[in-house]
Amino acid sequence: MKRKTIPLLAAGLVLAACSTVPLTGRKQLSLVSSGELMQMANSQYDQFLDENKVIKGTADANRVKNIGNKLARAVETYMNQNGYSENIEGFQWEFNLISSEQKNAFCMPGGKVAVYTGILPVCKTDAGLATVMGHEIAHAIAHHGGERMSQSLAAMGVQLAANVALSEKDPQVVNTFNSLYGVGANVGYLLPNSRRQESEADRLGLIFMAMAGYDPSASVGFWQRMSAGGGGKPPEFLSTHPSDERRIRDIQQHIPEAMKYYRK
Ligand SMILES: [Zn+2]
Repeated sequence: MKRKTIPLLAAGLVLAACSTVPLTGRKQLSLVSSGELMQMANSQYDQFLDENKVIKGTADANRVKNIGNKLARAVETYMNQNGYSENIEGFQWEFNLISSEQKNAFCMPGGKVAVYTGILPVCKTDAGLATVMGHEIAHAIAHHGGERMSQSLAAMGVQLAANVALSEKDPQVVNTFNSLYGVGANVGYLLPNSRRQESEADRLGLIFMAMAGYDPSASVGFWQRMSAGGGGKPPEFLSTHPSDERRIRDIQQHIPEAMKYYRK
């Protein structure tokens, strides 16, 4: 009889190293606790704000904050209603507009968002801006950053010795974090997300923007403008978010689901 506890214990260890993606229910590898990740992310974000020009008090800066706050309320409602409140525990939302020609935006683990002025003309409308911000926020609440860190660490041969997540003081953790979020003068996500993470972020982002009062079908126009506006040098957002036909088709397929959440 005693032997039976062994598989249970083993299962417990596996569960401890996993988290679940909201909506899709996908289990993901999670070797770094979200608390550790948020701590690193918050200090990285502060450094990023110090090193870049933050725009304050303009109409556009206020738009970023207003849309961000509406999306945050939507995310909180969705997470609480669907049993995922743990996924946003400890989040400290912040929404800043950064003066930069780069067509980009990011959300750190823990809810710190930056939108670059360069992407505003592509967004065009509030719904376009909500598309970008909803998508980036979705990456954060689905813990894609932690998953990618865990995958990199696992690939490096780092293993969980016990039922304890890796520490932010571990140099391998710090280096891996910096390779993904070494924002500084550069941009958030340096490495492209996986196709699966992108598609999850698209699907969740559509729901969040709809709940926040933005028509999710406006997202199609945004991705079309993004892919058309490449010009000579591909925009940063596009290099990590390939806006191909398939992506737009997938988004179109998810719009009816998001429309159920749409609050006009
Ligand atoms: Zn993305």
